[in-house]
Amino acid sequence: MKILVLGSGAREHAIITALLAEEAEHTIVAAPGNAGIAAEVPVETGLDPLDGAAVAEYAIENGIELVVIGPEAPLVAGVADPLRTRGIAVFGPGRAAAQLEGSKTFAKRIMEEAGVPTGRAVRARTLEEAERALDEFGAPYVVKADGLAAGKGVIVTSDRSAAVEHARHYLTQGGVLVEEFLDGQEVSLFLVSDGHTVLPLSPAQDYKRLLDGDAGPNTGGMGAYSPLPWLPETFVDEVIDTIALPTVRQLAAEQTPFIGLLYCGLIVTDKGIRVIEFNARFGDPETQVVLPRLVTPLSTLLYAAATGELGGMPRPEFALDTAVTVVLASEGYPEAPQTGRPITGLAEAAQVPEVTIAHAATAVDPQTGALLATGGRVLSVVARGTSFDEARERAYDAIARIDLPGAQYRTDIAARVAHS
Ligand code: AMP
Repeated sequence: MKILVLGSGAREHAIITALLAEEAEHTIVAAPGNAGIAAEVPVETGLDPLDGAAVAEYAIENGIELVVIGPEAPLVAGVADPLRTRGIAVFGPGRAAAQLEGSKTFAKRIMEEAGVPTGRAVRARTLEEAERALDEFGAPYVVKADGLAAGKGVIVTSDRSAAVEHARHYLTQGGVLVEEFLDGQEVSLFLVSDGHTVLPLSPAQDYKRLLDGDAGPNTGGMGAYSPLPWLPETFVDEVIDTIALPTVRQLAAEQTPFIGLLYCGLIVTDKGIRVIEFNARFGDPETQVVLPRLVTPLSTLLYAAATGELGGMPRPEFALDTAVTVVLASEGYPEAPQTGRPITGLAEAAQVPEVTIAHAATAVDPQTGALLATGGRVLSVVARGTSFDEARERAYDAIARIDLPGAQYRTDIAARVAHS
């Protein structure tokens, strides 16, 4: 198949790695990609992934059979719509259904209509309303920006004045939601959807906070592992029946079918499973630990979803081993990442058995040929193992071989499932 992947992060690198690992040979192009992606497939750096008309034109001219939209920004901007209008198979929801991620108010309404369990929330339009809601729910306080905020729009804090400050900031940028605090283990479950049916991938857990022990600010994600051996066996079925299918059916009933990746961000509380958020695309870094273990060809799933043919397909199969990813981030991330610094030691890191390195924000310096860090999250070191101990050991052995001045990473990824 001829496949165009839009995006430039470690998620897109992991998607491309999975497509290349299939037995079937595909022709893959990425736009705009990054240095790691460019080392594996051709990249179109001039094609703007936010320009739907240009992407559609490109796809038609180049005989692209499937477009996979990686990040949320082009989805929320509606890039899938002109592609679908022109008859191109596209994995990713259109603008209307992408509101499930783009607007927390929209997502809450859909959940309410569909009877999906989630935290109680109040949409505040003024600081007074926000403060009233904070006092009603009590500490710990949860305040969420209503729109997209690259994983940084949510604050969970016991410091009331920090919660008020967060609300003040995002009230001027599209509004805020004040939510009840949900206590429990977090799970990310990805489901492929063709607008009517869903098929689940393997559950994963990510680490949102910057520092060990879940300290520090929220980030886009500092690491992940999969599968989750501590989940009850009925977990995935319960999420399908009580969350994913009702949501997909509600969207279909509203004439905004969700075709793409339904990412359920969940908390397992002592009162049951609750949705903390939906995303409309593969999560980063969970993708890096879910896709390597996928045995079913990824292209088959994505194409069937894009063309409305998931019904009747068996559930995707996964290898029985474990996967761990540790994210290497630039100094200063998430507030003010220092970019432009050289990265060395990747070849040495890749020599560790069962290790792959997904690039997130890298570029090759055209003058010197050196690999440079160009953003906050720079690399995602992925390791597989027969046990979590083995996968962790490999991931940390590999990351120790990489040098990026000032870089930071967590040392406790998957520690809770190791030694078990
Ligand atoms: P979100 O961007 O909605 O995924 O939120 C980022 C992170 O904030 C989540 O992964 C949780 O760790 C945390 N979070 C969000 N909502 C809640 C909540 N209602 N209760 C507790 N933690 C939350």
